[in-house]
Amino acid sequence: MSAGPRERVVRPGLLSRLAVERAARARAGLERRSREIGAREGIAIEVDGQVLRNFCSNDYLGLSQHPEVVAALQECAAWRGVGAGASHLVCGHYREHRELEEAIAEWQGYPRALLFSSGYLANLAVVQTLLREGDLCVQDKLNHASLIDAARLAGAELKRYPHALPDGALRQLRSQPAAAALLATDGVFSMDGDIAPLKILAVLARAENATFYVDDAHGAGVLGPDGCGSVAHSGLSVNEVPLQLITLGKALGGAGAVLVGQAALIEAIADSARPYIYTTALPPALAAAARSALAIARREPWRRFKLAGLVARFRRGAQQIGVGLMDSSTPIQPIVIGSNTAALAAARQLEKAGFFVGAIRPPTVPEGRARLRVTLNALHSEADVDALLDALAGVARRLAGE
Ligand SMILES: *Cc1c(COP(=O)(O)O)cnc(C)c1O
Repeated sequence: MSAGPRERVVRPGLLSRLAVERAARARAGLERRSREIGAREGIAIEVDGQVLRNFCSNDYLGLSQHPEVVAALQECAAWRGVGAGASHLVCGHYREHRELEEAIAEWQGYPRALLFSSGYLANLAVVQTLLREGDLCVQDKLNHASLIDAARLAGAELKRYPHALPDGALRQLRSQPAAAALLATDGVFSMDGDIAPLKILAVLARAENATFYVDDAHGAGVLGPDGCGSVAHSGLSVNEVPLQLITLGKALGGAGAVLVGQAALIEAIADSARPYIYTTALPPALAAAARSALAIARREPWRRFKLAGLVARFRRGAQQIGVGLMDSSTPIQPIVIGSNTAALAAARQLEKAGFFVGAIRPPTVPEGRARLRVTLNALHSEADVDALLDALAGVARRLAGE
């Protein structure tokens, strides 16, 4: 008996695989790199040394540099210091955290609130607390990556329905009538700007005995009465939406996120969610800053009214110059270009004309749907919007000529 030469198995090297993948991404126009921001004031932003008008930030109400918000942060940091020093359950839970939770709960008309150091972590916490293996997580296909990741991490069965299609949600829920289920959707879709059909989804969730969860990262502060967000805008409250996410890094101009919900839900999450327990609490000064930003947002409704006016002006102007927009009534106004390289070229052309607009490519958006994501801000003037429209007309001409 003679053993033939053993086939030598070659273990693939991780670094060489990364190199191959990176080269392929570069060829497909998919490479990503952060642009370094220098000075910034209002909508003026210095990018790699050039001052541009910023049309890609989520600081919708223009609060991130508000002197009162900055002062709240500085005053708190002056006596608290910077870091919370521990997680909430150890010794990192400060009065500023509680006061912020209470202010957000009161604003939203929800019984309880729980602060997280980011919206990403809050979504992991929600899904992981509620769902186990064998449970069902039904989600809109265009939900934020953190919700998708959350379902995967929880080990639940993730079923995604076609974007904003309640029939699809119902079909997915009915496919597993015996499984405990969470129905989760973004309130405002971050790359499309449209508002989810929350009213119908709430009815479905109730009929199917699924818990309904809305991630309102882009609606809070911007939509609805008192700027409460997409849930209030849709005429819903804690009765139909027992749990929702308000993030602090977008319209409120800070960082962190707050879940608001029925007491039993919030208590369960605070008690057991790993992304709440095993991470350092948000710096208390950031909580103080967020409370200050919320107070300004509420007492200065002109910010969201002005924003709505700018959105209407942008949409009217785009129609006049034949630039096709998506069906969005929010400050997120994407222009679908299609190919990755064309979207990048369009963003570069805008940059040359003095505008900073993001080119969004897969996997953030579906293949073949690369786009310019224009976001409007309460600090923009009508003249800023008109100037951007002029530049977009130039982009459209160039695309048509090619
Ligand atoms: C930005 C965003 C998040 C994440 O929030 P962070 O606080 O930035 O981590 C979650 N969901 C949606 C829909 C978002 O747009």
